[in-house]
Amino acid sequence: MTDTSEVVIVGGGAAGCSVAYYLALAGVKSTIIEKEGIGSQASGYSAGGLNPLQGTGIPGPLSDVAMESYLLHQDLFPKLMEATGVNYQWRITSLVKVAFDDEDPPEIQETFDTFTSTDGFEADMLDREQLLDLEPRISSEVSQGVVARGNASLDSYKYTLALAQAAEKMGVSVQSGTVQGLERTNGRVTGVLLEGRVLHCDQLVMATGPWSRIAEPWLGAYVPVDPLKGEILRMELPGGPLGHDMSGGGGSLYPKPDGLVWCGTTEDWRGYDRSTTESARQRILNGAVKLIPDMAKAQLVLHTACLRPVTPDWLPIIGRAPGLDNAFLATGAGKKGILLSPAIGKAVADQITKGETQLSVAEFDPARFASPTD
Ligand SMILES: Cc1cc2nc3c(=O)[nH]c(=O)nc-3n(C[C@H](O)[C@H](O)[C@H](O)COP(=O)(O)OP(=O)(O)OC[C@H]3O[C@@H](n4cnc5c(N)ncnc54)[C@H](O)[C@@H]3O)c2cc1C
Repeated sequence: MTDTSEVVIVGGGAAGCSVAYYLALAGVKSTIIEKEGIGSQASGYSAGGLNPLQGTGIPGPLSDVAMESYLLHQDLFPKLMEATGVNYQWRITSLVKVAFDDEDPPEIQETFDTFTSTDGFEADMLDREQLLDLEPRISSEVSQGVVARGNASLDSYKYTLALAQAAEKMGVSVQSGTVQGLERTNGRVTGVLLEGRVLHCDQLVMATGPWSRIAEPWLGAYVPVDPLKGEILRMELPGGPLGHDMSGGGGSLYPKPDGLVWCGTTEDWRGYDRSTTESARQRILNGAVKLIPDMAKAQLVLHTACLRPVTPDWLPIIGRAPGLDNAFLATGAGKKGILLSPAIGKAVADQITKGETQLSVAEFDPARFASPTD
């Protein structure tokens, strides 16, 4: 095993693997160091939704980069499929949002307006009868809804693996190990400290997701990323799969190509606890059953929990670490880390190889956290 790599990337989630892939495309061979396995954390257990038009920071500071990244995903799928043979099931999906008799229809009109005013996306408003025609198992207590088309979805575990495998085929090395510190000389990072050895490097990328604060003392910079736990239930619904992603009444349902319906997700600040809980199971089920009463008869196949990397302003941290010429951060993408991963990877690869990027990431410069945050 060599003890030098041009670029060392710490973390084999979607962010780190994407950096490795885009660096390799630019002719730079890197080494990914991963402590638990490629895609073993949130990148392997996310819901896999790619909605560039809605979510925290959208519309808002994430809008441009979310759309850029969504388009990069479209471009990536055939290329990664061809390079690796891994079919991670990228596909355009439709989303049905419903309102119930007993509540205001919050996001219905907003979703309709957003999707109908964006090229490549569309939406239709639906009344109760139209909703029940579309999906007869929806609760008869819904009052109205919207069906929006154009957002996409994928299997985020297979996607992350495909990025890593495609990168490996271009000469990237993936190594198991836990990075425990950095070696620094004259304001530059010269290597990463692994158990019993140093791996020397010219450039460093920290892509450690919710574990990013570990690098604060190593880099002498603030990297305020905290873990936001999310749980998902994978269920087998009698009567066949649903035809659309659905949300409303506190429930969100994502039908998958294997026929299972994923239900969730929760948001809980519980530190690094990754255990599944009875309370989350109940909360998720209550929402699912309100939306589709037949979910009460569904079989639980798998219950998962994982951690989103969240920053104080809910925006990612992308770019050069303050005060160091050759260390970069690719982290903090919160609830949108799968959507944003191609843009994060390409932006950091551009910055390393060309010194700049055309992608809309200037607002996410690590230097915005110049002082400590809680
Ligand atoms: C329930 C849930 C649902 C989600 N749904 C969506 C969705 O629909 N769409 C979307 O876009 N996003 C979604 N997300 C968010 C998305 O999953 C994350 O933002 C994304 O996976 C973060 O990727 P990452 O590579 O930054 O971090 P991670 O996937 O956490 O990867 C970081 C890696 O670094 C490794 N590591 C850490 N420290 C070290 C060290 N010292 N040495 C070596 N390796 C180390 C870890 O083992 C880990 O593998 C969801 C998240 C959750 C929890």
